[in-house]
Amino acid sequence: MFRKLRIAVLLLILATVALGAWRSGARATEWKHTLHATVYPIAADASPQTRASVARLSADDFAPIADWLQDEVRRHGREVLRPLAISVAPPVELLPPPFPAGGGPVDVGLWSLRLRFWAWRHDATPGPRPDVRLFVLYHDPARTPRLDHSVGLRKGQIGIVKAFASRDEGPRNAVVIAHELLHTLGASDKYDPQSLAPVFPEGYAEPDRQPLHPQRQAEIMAGRFALSEELLAMPDRLGQTLIGPQTAAEIGLLRAD
Ligand SMILES: [Zn+2]
Repeated sequence: MFRKLRIAVLLLILATVALGAWRSGARATEWKHTLHATVYPIAADASPQTRASVARLSADDFAPIADWLQDEVRRHGREVLRPLAISVAPPVELLPPPFPAGGGPVDVGLWSLRLRFWAWRHDATPGPRPDVRLFVLYHDPARTPRLDHSVGLRKGQIGIVKAFASRDEGPRNAVVIAHELLHTLGASDKYDPQSLAPVFPEGYAEPDRQPLHPQRQAEIMAGRFALSEELLAMPDRLGQTLIGPQTAAEIGLLRAD
């Protein structure tokens, strides 16, 4: 009896989560209204520096992402006023379920369901639910010099972003946050998973440049840009990145209406 009830409640929760995801997903890529994203900062280690920088975060720290997206949306011919607004929630004290690194599609699917359920339980922010939720895990660079990968899910429009807890790293964190944000809107990666090199031409910011190398900017979903056939560079701020035509099409920017 209790088991049946528990299953019924769980199914109801999943249906609610799925319906919410479908509704917000369809609206988010119309580019007619402001997309609301909330950053949920999380101190991912016990370092005092991490705690201090998480406590200091405000919406101003993420404003460059909204400004960049506005410029890119305009460049692609859309005139929506303020396409993105980012607010900052109070810090979340718990870590999200870890990504099943090396897991198969079933593990990733189950993790995605657990993550969406976790996000639904830990969203204590007052006011209407944001379209996109970005859980940003801050790490002290002295303790974690290399971050493992961030994730952005279209289903549920949730991102788990690994970031450095240091003001100097703000511009680089913004590049990662923008990349994962665009994943939540349906953009795909544009780099080779083995070599990490941008895929030509869609992963190049200037695919028509002669000579092709060195590239001066990165396509945001490529993550890196090629200085030569062998040498890759990472953008250190959003000003060094752009949204290429394929990403623009994937996130609905090029839709004619
Ligand atoms: Zn990616």
